[in-house]
Amino acid sequence: MSYVSDVFTRVKARNAFEPEFLQAVEEVFESLVPVIDKHPEYVKANLLDRLTEPERQIFFRVPWVDDRGEIQVNRGFRVQFSGAIGPYKGGLRFHPSVYIGIIKFLGFEQIFKNALTGLPIGGGKGGSDFDPKGKSDAEVMRFCQSFMTELYRHIGPDVDVPAGDIGVGGREIGYLYGQYRRIRGAFENGVLTGKGLSYGGSLVRTEATGFGLLYFVDEMLRYNGHQIKDKVVVISGAGNVATYACKKVNALGGKVIAMSDSEGYIYDENGIDIDLVITIKTVNRGKLKTYLNHHPSAKFVEGHRNIWSLKCDIALPCATQNDIDLEEAQLLVANGVIAVGEGANMPCTNEAIKYFLTHNVLVAPAKAANAGGVATSALEMSQNSSRYAWTFEQVDEKLKEIMVNIHKNAAEASAAYGFGYNLVAGANIAGFKKVAEAMMAQGDY
Ligand code: NDP
Repeated sequence: MSYVSDVFTRVKARNAFEPEFLQAVEEVFESLVPVIDKHPEYVKANLLDRLTEPERQIFFRVPWVDDRGEIQVNRGFRVQFSGAIGPYKGGLRFHPSVYIGIIKFLGFEQIFKNALTGLPIGGGKGGSDFDPKGKSDAEVMRFCQSFMTELYRHIGPDVDVPAGDIGVGGREIGYLYGQYRRIRGAFENGVLTGKGLSYGGSLVRTEATGFGLLYFVDEMLRYNGHQIKDKVVVISGAGNVATYACKKVNALGGKVIAMSDSEGYIYDENGIDIDLVITIKTVNRGKLKTYLNHHPSAKFVEGHRNIWSLKCDIALPCATQNDIDLEEAQLLVANGVIAVGEGANMPCTNEAIKYFLTHNVLVAPAKAANAGGVATSALEMSQNSSRYAWTFEQVDEKLKEIMVNIHKNAAEASAAYGFGYNLVAGANIAGFKKVAEAMMAQGDY
């Protein structure tokens, strides 16, 4: 058996009940076969067994008091996957579906994504099965305080720097930082990113993942003789990534005709009114279907995955993992899609990705395409340590430059290892090689 499949057999046996983690590992390993063939020293150093086992996993109890005075208990997680090239870095997800397998898949992907940014950040991820939906601000605050009362001892500006993800936005980061500061008794604001501007946040961080996705997709399209202008776009999700992706599509001259939340999707042939979506979902924390109260000619269709039956040129899955499976990929291809840009993490199954690639659909893989969020978080860390804030234009310019570079590095790595123009393989290889070199230099850890 080859080294790669041998390691994967061991990873499957050790993590048998974590399908999302196994899916993420399998996708990376498929790209690494020619790299491992060229580098026998990686086999000797057993890099793949080492990389698939987190350096540290922290599980903890999060008790908190609800508004009725009753004590609730959730589970907290932080997985510090690889610190080979910098402090662990990756978001916190608060969603009822969270369990260790989700955190591990996200943390594993984060290693390569963070390496691709070219910035000195290792890979980690965390979260809880707490559901912020329907909770009062006071309940969310008490939960965040309890979560940080345990987490603080494991993180720090040079150790591990969490940020937001699904269910964790500016409000949650504020409560988390407040508790960290209370416990530490110091203004160490480089410990979290995605902060508000008044206490060390960076301009563009809110927009960064969505904007970065479009900078990457734009570059990929132009490289292949297309452009976003006049293209019809469908975006799943209506949260942070989806809304700023929509804004940038509009700025680049495309038209977004549909967006979704967990209940279903809205279709507006006039183009989605994105400021209204932000008011409904982000400001009022409401349901997307209330869009129809303001635009009665739009349609709401239940079942968020039905969005992929719409005809579009570009599909941008920006909600959650495994949003597009083989059947939905077939529908999109039959309807003439030319490009898929993954704003969410692992939004397409491995079968869906293969189907797109074998049907000449351009795929911007998550590790590369949504890396703008974490890249801007690293820029926030730089500003925090220098105690100097950059302008919106300065940060946006750096973000664009980083996304264009990631595209270039992924395209070059793909060609160098015989994959032609395959950004999925190229992103995995370019990210892996940087981490591999650091691990080789640092001995057996
Ligand atoms: P938000 O919480 O802001 O928004 C998530 C959106 O996706 C909401 O519209 C939500 O619907 C929908 N959604 C979430 N879970 C599900 C589900 N299980 N089924 C259907 N719909 C769902 O999260 P973000 O925008 O921050 O994150 C979206 C994706 O992007 C995630 O995969 C995340 O890991 C990834 N990402 C985020 C980054 C960031 O900077 N925020 C950086 C890189 C990647 P509803 O409101 O109804 O729950």
